[in-house]
Amino acid sequence: MALEFRSQMDDAWYDARIVMDGYDCLRVKFIGFPDDHDEVFDANNLTSFKDIAEFRRRFRPVSVQVQDNECSQVAKGTLVCVAHAVCPDDRRFYDAVVYKVLHEEHRFVKGEEECPCSFILFWRHGPKAGCLTVQDLENICRVQPRRSKMNPLLTSFLETAREKIEITLSKICATPHEPAYDEKACRPSVSQRLKQDTSTSRRPSSLISSLKRFVQIALKTFSKCISFLIFYSFLKPEMNGNPSQRAGHVREIEGTPHMIIVDNLERGL
Ligand SMILES: [Zn+2]
Repeated sequence: MALEFRSQMDDAWYDARIVMDGYDCLRVKFIGFPDDHDEVFDANNLTSFKDIAEFRRRFRPVSVQVQDNECSQVAKGTLVCVAHAVCPDDRRFYDAVVYKVLHEEHRFVKGEEECPCSFILFWRHGPKAGCLTVQDLENICRVQPRRSKMNPLLTSFLETAREKIEITLSKICATPHEPAYDEKACRPSVSQRLKQDTSTSRRPSSLISSLKRFVQIALKTFSKCISFLIFYSFLKPEMNGNPSQRAGHVREIEGTPHMIIVDNLERGL
């Protein structure tokens, strides 16, 4: 089955056929050219679905030469494949879009219709890419719509490439995440940070800790003794006097009323 293939060498379209070259490779053979012009593609080099799609777009049905009596089929906006003369005996085909058609009356020579119309084309790729040129109908081919059913060999090759990509992706997904650095060492967990806080930065040495504890106990005991003595000195006179004054812990000192607040007094005392 003949196909049209856009070469990777010069980006031009050529009539070609394809054959498998081993299990993973597809060989494109250019019709009318010797074997040393073949282009070989390895499925392993198509490493993404985008690569597959782009490679798929390099193939399409063979474009058809527009006949003179089919001139009306080439209208503004039509995608065409046009011959570009690289040299007098070397014509290569690239895609262009019809920008404008300058119609002229067709004539008949020996019973055959001739199209003298001129076609202004906008080249999409190739040496004239982005340029407008005027072409005759004889240089213009009509691009055929792509068929949903592709060449079976091309379908098989693309499927092989797709399976390889899916296998690679499945391996990547199945591989446990390996951080590029030791996250535990760099970012300790909350419990680790708390442990570090209490075990290192906030904990004094054992000697300091014992001394501090001793001072705390001594201060607490001293405070209790002082509180008890103050409380006792103020209550003692009232124990033998008016009970109502004892209950309020209020007594008058040199004519000024004072309230004594006793703290750190244990219940037993
Ligand atoms: Zn015409």
